[in-house]
Amino acid sequence: MEEIYCFAGNPLDRVSQRRQDAGWVASLLEQPDTRVLPLHGLKPHIRHSSAVALAWQSVEPWRPLIAGGSTLILLGIRDGRAYFAVDATAAATPADGEATVMDARAVAAMIDGGEAAIVAEARSLIDWHARHRFCAQCGTPSVVASGGWMRLCPNCNAHHFPRVDPVVIMLGVKGERCLLGRGLRRPGARFSCLAGFMEPGETLEEAVRREILEESGIRIGRVRYLASQPWPFPSSLMMGFLCEALSEEITIDPDELAEARWFEREEVRAMVERSRSDDPIPGLATLPPPLAIGHQIARRWAFGVDIV
Ligand SMILES: [Zn+2]
Repeated sequence: MEEIYCFAGNPLDRVSQRRQDAGWVASLLEQPDTRVLPLHGLKPHIRHSSAVALAWQSVEPWRPLIAGGSTLILLGIRDGRAYFAVDATAAATPADGEATVMDARAVAAMIDGGEAAIVAEARSLIDWHARHRFCAQCGTPSVVASGGWMRLCPNCNAHHFPRVDPVVIMLGVKGERCLLGRGLRRPGARFSCLAGFMEPGETLEEAVRREILEESGIRIGRVRYLASQPWPFPSSLMMGFLCEALSEEITIDPDELAEARWFEREEVRAMVERSRSDDPIPGLATLPPPLAIGHQIARRWAFGVDIV
């Protein structure tokens, strides 16, 4: 069965055909029930009363910012209601006592999965616009089109679309053991699946084999796809695999990893439990939190999913 992880399962209809109609998109901003999610420095506005929730607001207070050229994204439609995100970095942070901003990763762990997926969509798109303001072909400042889903060059007419960066993330398995690594920027005892960006001109399976070989020296045979996860930091698509290790001797790439080791299945089960705790026991090996697909891949293998 397909499993859905944090940042996946977006409930909005992205209306990819209709959003090309600028008049229709503008008309949505005039509808009283339309809602806007402001992001300040890529952090969504939230309300924090009994529980944390995204601070969806009416369009009205944001009209000056939108008119001033702040990036506006049509996130989609649900039950006839339009949802937008606006880059509110140029505005003051929320003044009302209950509202504040929160890092997208932190908020995602506290809200409904579908809402977290909307945050992922909004964050990736606003970040992309902020970093792609000029035409990559001729250098002219480009303009936002298609409800925020494209940039158009007024000089050479090139169309630029938001990027998605594919990443393979995989658990190498040999019998009852699996291969986990600890990154250079990850002190302590948190281990995870190895991962790396895909390169042009390779298949998913080739990227899995290349990355594991480069980072750990382990040769890989069969590769089994498990699941994927949008990871909006800034715009990755994590594609998760189990793969069959053909060798055992580890030689780490010291530029990538601090450490890589084989772990017994029983040990990984204990690590899954520990990583669910807010208060991990110092010194004992653990995994990333359940929010991350690296946790989910290790969990699925530890509790019975195998390569064949
Ligand atoms: Zn151009």
